[in-house]
Parts: sequence; structure tokens; C-alpha cells
Amino acid sequence: MLDFHRADLARLAARDRLRVLAPMAGKDFASNDYLGLANSPRLAAAIARAVAEGVPVGSGGSRLLRGNHPEHEALEAEATTFFGAEASLYFSSGYAANVAIMATLPQRGDLIVHDALVHASMHEGMKLSRAGSVAAAHNDANAFDDAIRAWRAGGGKGTVWIAVESLYSMDGDTAPLAELMAVAERHDTMLIVDEAHATGVFGDRGQGLSIAGERVVTLHTCGKAMGCEGALVAGPRIVRDYLVNRGRGFIFSTAPSPLMARGVREALHILADEPERRSALHDRIALAGERLAKHGALAGGTPIMPLILHDNGRTMRAAQALQARGFDIRGIRPPTVPVGAARLRLSITLNVEAADIRALDDALQEVLA
Ligand code: PMP
Repeated sequence: MLDFHRADLARLAARDRLRVLAPMAGKDFASNDYLGLANSPRLAAAIARAVAEGVPVGSGGSRLLRGNHPEHEALEAEATTFFGAEASLYFSSGYAANVAIMATLPQRGDLIVHDALVHASMHEGMKLSRAGSVAAAHNDANAFDDAIRAWRAGGGKGTVWIAVESLYSMDGDTAPLAELMAVAERHDTMLIVDEAHATGVFGDRGQGLSIAGERVVTLHTCGKAMGCEGALVAGPRIVRDYLVNRGRGFIFSTAPSPLMARGVREALHILADEPERRSALHDRIALAGERLAKHGALAGGTPIMPLILHDNGRTMRAAQALQARGFDIRGIRPPTVPVGAARLRLSITLNVEAADIRALDDALQEVLA
């Protein structure tokens, strides 16, 4: 067994794909902590207050047993209002939430039409789902329309579930949500929107890019702009009820820490009360766009700016050279991105200053020469 594993790892190493966990070091151009909340004193103070009030560290069980804590329910009540939905549910991770959504909501006889670039966690859920699934060309609303028409023409009768991200995690581009909503209405389908990278970054309160409604289910991870951990699913009440009763990753898993639920609740308050964080981030994104696009970074007004170098070796060497110059920048290789699309994933957060962005411009000049 061990020999098998060794041989497997040796094969990965030979293909230059053996990954190791790298320490945090250098200027943060790598995290998803877009608003710099992970280290926020306001979040830490909220958790310290909860500790002082006796809110427990551990939940002690799954939500359906003893683990359901008033902190989870208080968070969900506020999230429901915040996202303008009918109901919401807190999961221990976005990964678990996406798996539950995709595996649980679409039924046998249904069809999932997903964007070609949706996150691995959605794919994981689709593998478990009894519904059929088909990929539509990235961000092409007509491709979704065509796939639904073709399925209906072939006799498909069940519910159709469109599944997309609002802001793509590795490409930094945004979905044509208004057009997709029109497709959903035209064909009477559901629309699942993974707002992992848009939550906190877009929307007047930081609620993301989509608009709640009876056919919309949104996923908001709490470990990115919210600086915490876990994920909130918002949508129709029946969706919440279904996930509570059928979502295996929800039912058979220990409920998230009640302290973290308090932290996430405070993060929602911060998103609403401190819009200046969002405007500061967008100023920084604009500066980064001006400075980094000339090096080939795809700058589309979002905090994620991929610089596609194609070749795995070149990408990893460029990442190392930038790290040696004090920038925390990571190379992203297949299978996280398609083969031939290796890239530096530059992310802009409030953890970097304007001067750091200018310094990165200079460093890229040298490293990519
Ligand atoms: N969806 C997207 C688009 C993501 O980028 C991620 C995290 N990388 C997830 C879901 C999973 O969320 P979490 O990290 O909370 O498990």
C-alpha cells in the first residue's frame, strides 16, 4: 500500500506537480481576505465578547442533534435579511455547502446545466447527484439556453438547475447574471449562484452580485471577504428545509463552532457598516488594473487578476522569483485550471498598500523579462 502511494507521488513529482504546503510569507497578493477582515480587531473583539458571555468553542454535535446553538440561528436570521432571501443555512465550509446543494437539490430526472468553469466542489456534488449534468461554454448565456432547449426537445421533463459562479475564482471575470436570469425565467429553471468571491466585494451592502428571488439559491463563503470560516446558503425556505433534511454533509457533520457563527454575524455587520472598506478595495483594484494589465494580467475590475503564462514550469519559476522579492504570489497549475492555462493568480486585498502594487509592477517587469 505504502509502496503504491510512494510510486504515485513519485509520478507526480516527475511531472512537476507534486505540491507542498507553503508558509505564509511576503506581501499578500495570494489570499481571498479581500477586505482584510481576517485580522480585524472588530471581529476579534466580537469573538472575545462571545467567549466572555460563555458561548462555547465547540458545538458538541450535528445541528439535528444537540449541536444546534442559538448562535447558529441568530446568524441565519440576520443572513436571511442581509441577503434578502426567505431563509438561509450556515455550513462549516463552502465546499460542504456546494456538495450539499448540488447533490441534494437536483433530483433524478432533473438536469444541471453548469458553467464549464465552476468550482471543484460543485463538480463533487454533481458526481453524487442523481440528476444529469451538462457543461455550458463559460459565461455564454446562449449556450445555457441551447443546452436547456436541446434537453427539453429530447424529452427532458424535470427541473433544470443552472449553476454558475458570480465571480470566477481563477479567472476573475463575472457571470452575465442578468442574461442568465432571463434564461432561467424563459425556461422556468432554478439558478444556483456561487458568490464565494463576490460576497463582501460587490453589492451596496456587500451582498454579492445576484438578486434574491424564488428561483435563486446563493452560496456565500465566509472564509474570504468575511474573514471567518464556513458558508451561508440563502434562498427559498424549501431549499433550506431540504438541505437540513437531505444534505448529508449537513446532517452527518458536527455543527460549526458557535463562536465562529458569532464572528460571521459580526462580519455581516462590518460589511454593512463599513462600506469604506469596499470603496478602498475598489480603488486598489483600479490602481492594480492600471499597473498590472501591461504585464498581461487580466484586470476586469475585480480583485482577482490572473496572469496566464500557460507553461507550468514558467509559471512556477515566476512565482518563486516574485516570492524571493517579497511578494506572496502563487502559481496555479492544472488540475485547478485547464491544461495549458497555468497562471499567477494575483489577488488584490486591503492587506496590500498602493506602494506594494507599484513595487509589484516593477518586480513583474524584471521577472517576466
Ligand atoms: N466556491 C468557490 C468558487 C471557491 O473558490 C471556494 C474556495 N476556494 C469554495 C466554493 C469553497 O469554499 P470553502 O473554502 O469555504 O470551503
